[in-house]
Amino acid sequence: MIQVEGLSKNYARTVAVNDISFSVDKGDIVGFLGPNGAGKTTTMRILTCFMPPTAGKATVAGFDVFEQPFEVKKRIGYLPETPPLYPEMSVAGYLSFVARLKNIPNADIKRRTEEVMGRCAVADVKSKLISKLSRGYRQRVGLAQAIIHNPDVLILDEPTSGLDPKQINETRELIKSLSGEHTIILSTHILPEVEAVCEKVIIINKGKLVTTDSVENLKHRAGLGNAVQLQIDTAGNGDASGVHQRLEQVPGVSKVLDKAVSGDRFIFEVESLPDRNARADLARAVVHAGWNLLELKSLTYSLEEVFLELTGSNSEPQSSTVAGGVQ
Ligand code: ADP
Repeated sequence: MIQVEGLSKNYARTVAVNDISFSVDKGDIVGFLGPNGAGKTTTMRILTCFMPPTAGKATVAGFDVFEQPFEVKKRIGYLPETPPLYPEMSVAGYLSFVARLKNIPNADIKRRTEEVMGRCAVADVKSKLISKLSRGYRQRVGLAQAIIHNPDVLILDEPTSGLDPKQINETRELIKSLSGEHTIILSTHILPEVEAVCEKVIIINKGKLVTTDSVENLKHRAGLGNAVQLQIDTAGNGDASGVHQRLEQVPGVSKVLDKAVSGDRFIFEVESLPDRNARADLARAVVHAGWNLLELKSLTYSLEEVFLELTGSNSEPQSSTVAGGVQ
């Protein structure tokens, strides 16, 4: 549905987007992720025909954003970070105005306006002036204007920025409910948002593409998707290297790391082979050896930690590993 090839954009001497390529399939809901200044808004503005690229090519539903902007605009709904609203208009008045701008036939305008107001949960304020609405309601009116012409593609720039937690949840639910019918690209720098809403991610940093992948794969790629932390008390019946060796022999285990020692107590981090979870076998092995299993817990990287790794903003991802001595 969206193809981006070798796209670059310079503002004077700033290279905002630097030779990025990605594609988004029909019906996908994709998180466009990157720290502030990464080039997300610039890319979205090119995709929505607001400005031309310096180099490269982007197509939406097969139409070139530069050469066929009218065809592209028909198929795209765009919600910029600040929704393009007219505060002196009522919600219903504004949405019918947008419907006319987007060439919806006169006979369909009233029905379509009612539909999107219902869909975006703003029907209860339809007669209110936009200037009187809360930020959450304004955002929903912004979404309503983006979908009023039933576009194939929705491009949402930081759709939950500035909202309170309840409004954030409502907006995320609304966006999720729009997936399936629409292909959605949603820019954000909020990682939990991606985990809550998106199936795939495109990560950019300093104008460069870092990766595109599914949320699940991204977590696995961090390598610790199947890791556990074990705390074992050998009660005088085994030392660190003995326990280490025994854990390494457990079927499915790929790596054992010694993390901490205090007397007879040891903490290990144990990784399993992909698609294996050695937890039950590990527990059994410890008990069979006559040791006490004080703790066995999963260690997974959050998407946030993976993101910080990939964008080079963090030297060591945080895990719940106990550093230093045994507690
Ligand atoms: P993001 O949306 O990821 O925060 P932007 O696309 O807004 O990133 O910005 C990417 C880079 O381009 C930043 O360094 C920003 O300062 C710069 N930039 C954005 N818009 C302009 C502009 N109109 N003129 C000059 N530089 C700009």
